[in-house]
Amino acid sequence: KRRQLVVGNWKMNGNRQENAALLAQILSGWPGQSPVQVVICPPFPYLYQVRDTLQGSAIELGAQNVNEEEKGALTGEVSAHMLADMDCKFAIIGHNERRRLQGETDDRVARKFIAAQHAGLIPILCIGESVAQRDQGLHLQVISRQLNAVIEVVGLDAFANAVVAYEPVWAVGTGKTATPVQAQEVHRHIRQQLGQYAESVRVLYGGSVKAHNAKELFALPDIDGALLGGASLDAQEFLTICSAAI
Ligand code: 13P
Repeated sequence: KRRQLVVGNWKMNGNRQENAALLAQILSGWPGQSPVQVVICPPFPYLYQVRDTLQGSAIELGAQNVNEEEKGALTGEVSAHMLADMDCKFAIIGHNERRRLQGETDDRVARKFIAAQHAGLIPILCIGESVAQRDQGLHLQVISRQLNAVIEVVGLDAFANAVVAYEPVWAVGTGKTATPVQAQEVHRHIRQQLGQYAESVRVLYGGSVKAHNAKELFALPDIDGALLGGASLDAQEFLTICSAAI
């Protein structure tokens, strides 16, 4: 049985005051022990604050991105080792906003995945098709290509300790969630590419997951939780979704 996982990706939102208020509400509503694993990924400048606030709680810390190099003259970049040093346990890799807006290629995504694991972080590898690709019926092909591009570089065994997140680009921040049938089809397809790890890798769904639709998505056999954007910025919404994963 795979442990359900809910990851809050704050993206580029928040400030110290808002973060403190949000975390206080989340912590007061989430038990010290739960069958559901909960992770929060704040922007880099707030890792310290969130780390200190989460100390002693059951909620874990993650990063939204890592640089693929270990260290050096890379102004403005943050290494996986630094993030591990800040007590991050997870790192989101290859989010579609980075692929589309920051030009991250499959190869770079694969190298980030390796860097994260080298530093002891669990990569959350994001894959997902665009609306045009889905309209043309190419979504399963696109998913296979994105996943295999990483598998070819990192090797299948790297999935012994990794998470995959299916985030259809057309569902992110749009209020359009994949239907249960659409999501289940892709999640099953993802597992089929993972060989001996097919049944052990946690595969999350991301894209307009809200309190009102979380339960039916979590009920699907191949969905092991969610990667949340907007819903992770509202304590009540976030807690409701975390509880729906129990
Ligand atoms: P939304 O939940 O805001 O659609 O964002 C999903 C996402 O991109 C999480 O990484």
